[in-house]
Amino acid sequence: QTAKPTADTIFGKIARKEIPVDFLYEDDQCVAFHDQNKQAPTHFLVIPKVPIQQLSHCKQSDEQLLGHLLVIATKVAKDQGLDDNGYRVVINNGKHGGQSVYHLHVHVFGGRQMEWPPG
Ligand code: 5GP
Repeated sequence: QTAKPTADTIFGKIARKEIPVDFLYEDDQCVAFHDQNKQAPTHFLVIPKVPIQQLSHCKQSDEQLLGHLLVIATKVAKDQGLDDNGYRVVINNGKHGGQSVYHLHVHVFGGRQMEWPPG
């Protein structure tokens, strides 16, 4: 059993191309695009096409998809020139995780020094 699709969000519309966005990458499982409110010189998102609400809703059967999202995050990061200095990969999960769009997404931040711990 795979994670259940849930109520539609802006990212569902982006994944279905109902809202025009320039994709940095697309395949049958996911798309990547720049965040509209970037928090670093490079800030993009990788989202699955299937509208999984959040990381903690994933099932064992989503293992391949979750791995794929990370593999594509690294590929797009390389394409964006982030390999030399590194970058941060984040998934916000639920309220305390700071999630605001309830369609699973991987953030990639690069182009500046990141702080730790996060706020
Ligand atoms: P969250 O806080 O849920 O982890 O992150 C959601 C991210 O989606 C935020 O960084 C926000 O700027 C970005 N975002 C929200 N709506 C849109 C949109 O319509 N287009 C794009 N490109 N990014 C969006």
